[in-house]
Amino acid sequence: AQLDTLDIVVLAALLLGTVAYFTKGTHWGITKDPYATTYGNVNGAKAGKTRNIVKKMEESNKNCVIFYGSQTGTAEDYASRLAKEGKSRYGLETMVADLEEYDYENLDTLGEDKVVVFVLATYGEGEPTDNAVDFYEFIISEDASFSQTADPPLEKLKFVAFGLGNNTYEHYNSMVRNVTKALEKMGATRIGEAGEGDDGAGTMEEDFLAWKDPMWTQLAEKMNLEEREAVYEPVFGFIERENLTRDSPEVYVGEPNKNHLEGTQKGPYNAHNPYIAPIAESREIFTVKDRNCLHMEIDISSSNLSYQTGDHIAIWPTNPGREVDRFLKVTGLLPKRDTVVSVKALDPTAKVPFPTPTTYDAVVRYHMEICAPVSRQMVATIAPFAPTESARAEMVKLGGDKDYFHDKISNKYYNIAQALESVEPSSSWSAIPISAFVEGVPKIQPRYYSISSSSLVQKNKISITAVVESMNIPGRPEVLKGVTTNYLLALKQMQHGDQQPDPHGLTYEITGPRNKYDGIHVPVHIRHSNFKLPSDPSKPIIMIGPGTGVAPFRAFVQERAAQAKAGQTIGRTLLFFGCRKSTEDFLYKPEWEIYKKDLGDSFELITAFSREGKDKVYVQHRLMEKKDEVNELLKQKAYFYVCGDAANMAREVNTVLGKILAEGRGVSEAKAEEIVKGMRAANQYQEDVW
Ligand code: FAD
Repeated sequence: AQLDTLDIVVLAALLLGTVAYFTKGTHWGITKDPYATTYGNVNGAKAGKTRNIVKKMEESNKNCVIFYGSQTGTAEDYASRLAKEGKSRYGLETMVADLEEYDYENLDTLGEDKVVVFVLATYGEGEPTDNAVDFYEFIISEDASFSQTADPPLEKLKFVAFGLGNNTYEHYNSMVRNVTKALEKMGATRIGEAGEGDDGAGTMEEDFLAWKDPMWTQLAEKMNLEEREAVYEPVFGFIERENLTRDSPEVYVGEPNKNHLEGTQKGPYNAHNPYIAPIAESREIFTVKDRNCLHMEIDISSSNLSYQTGDHIAIWPTNPGREVDRFLKVTGLLPKRDTVVSVKALDPTAKVPFPTPTTYDAVVRYHMEICAPVSRQMVATIAPFAPTESARAEMVKLGGDKDYFHDKISNKYYNIAQALESVEPSSSWSAIPISAFVEGVPKIQPRYYSISSSSLVQKNKISITAVVESMNIPGRPEVLKGVTTNYLLALKQMQHGDQQPDPHGLTYEITGPRNKYDGIHVPVHIRHSNFKLPSDPSKPIIMIGPGTGVAPFRAFVQERAAQAKAGQTIGRTLLFFGCRKSTEDFLYKPEWEIYKKDLGDSFELITAFSREGKDKVYVQHRLMEKKDEVNELLKQKAYFYVCGDAANMAREVNTVLGKILAEGRGVSEAKAEEIVKGMRAANQYQEDVW
């Protein structure tokens, strides 16, 4: 087979990785000095902060470290909850650790009285999360280089593992599976089952809860721990600062970090440091009244940010005023919303998840995911602090009874304040320590969007295509509103002259902390992806992108149109797009015609409208209708791309492609499945799904 550019890039990267690994020189079996790699400044660790986990545990008297590999914050949240429970129920001295912040070379020297817990999310196509990439590479290369004849290097290591995955992806929970396998092969002892949570089935939280109890029993037995009555102990202390007001210059009122507080934002911009970007342009691209889809142009020209076609942009949201108010009211903090507090971790290994001094309002508005689903464990934890005896009993019942909890809370999509309101609306829940909320409510997360512009065409302006989340839930009084997309909608309304934007009764602090987002700005960072056009534009491509799944394909087609205009030869460019009706949600309808003028016959847009004819037609049906050409193009090594809905569409497209190949090449469906897998492995089949 011929190697194309992409293959060469991949090979080169692998080779570099191997060289880097062998030159690193420290690996299990060789390093025996536990203090060898300490006080490093590797991976952006702060000066003076050790990367040596063995040392850190010794110094802080810990016997249990809970590492997390987290992308959207759930794994991190589970890690904190395990730490908390281990301490309060079993007296374990626990600490939570970001995999990115420590080295792992000396885990083989960890004492036998200690235990390591791994909470590992699998991201995308079986990949590690960004903060677990180095760890994963290390473990896998250790495993590969370990010879069965040598003494297993990890014989002393005891570990516990839980994975977060999504069964709609092919490599379901591959992180936890591969890490567990590698650790066991190298002699480590697993305690309890390696748990697996399934986001695809919507059972993540319950999978976690069902896994952890038997695990604790086994861990307690292995480590001789006595179970005791769990008493809540706060992780964070809140100190009210009477001499400061929200206008004092050192007080954070939503600024993400010190640079931002001091008024001069500075790069590098990344997941810890957003760029406050001007929104150059925004418009509505649905033609119906009751649903919204936003097209926005985000200007990065005054930053040092750059992107490549196919990358993602992360938008940092702000919570809506209504939910901020509700939260503050329910927790009794409303009169103190602007009170300044310094927050301190009461345990030296815990990290305050936002900068302080700050105000209660800012914490709730900018840092906590207060609109997110409620965890049943959190309900059980805060039950003792309920305002009345009957509320306490109800909380205990909700915390202990999975079905009851689903019926009363989850099925209504209540957030934490709504849940508390529903249990006891007339008294304040002010006895709950604020620390319990900071521990139990996830940290707010940026949301990713597939960039819908080409970096070749507009290198300083990033387009996004975002459908505004709005769901009617039976039994729930209010419509469920997506946090980020409604914030973006408000920004768009503001830009179009509405001084008090109010998408569906929600208001936002639209000008940001200290009005720093005034003039329509939004905090962003960029995440590079592997979802890429072939570098040779004459290669054919097939793109499947219904709904907002079309976003990166607008970028791809825009790029190819510009290349055609510049005289380059463009390969066949097939785009399958689907939506409800050609008159309602046909995204970028007029633009495709313009691109068609530049691309001529090489470009074909194939549409599927699900609510126009008597039968529902989806992109996968259209794909089947085009089977001969699709098969032919794939023989010519066309790249095949799928973007959008992971749960149904992407799966069905995969199945249909298998059928097309089976028919077209006269092979069995099992064999065709193998071919599709091979295409994925060779990056000929790329997905950008969510
Ligand atoms: P959220 O507030 O995050 O809510 C989202 C959903 O979570 C709700 O619809 C609901 O199902 C659930 N939920 C929220 N609150 C609760 C609750 N209290 N109880 C139970 N369930 C709840 N989207 C696009 O429109 N365009 C794109 O190009 C795009 N690209 C993406 C690329 C990637 C790599 C990824 C990962 C995602 C992409 N998305 C895209 C999705 C996007 O990131 C957001 O998830 C989406 O816009 C919703 O964000 P939101 O903050 O408005 O909604």
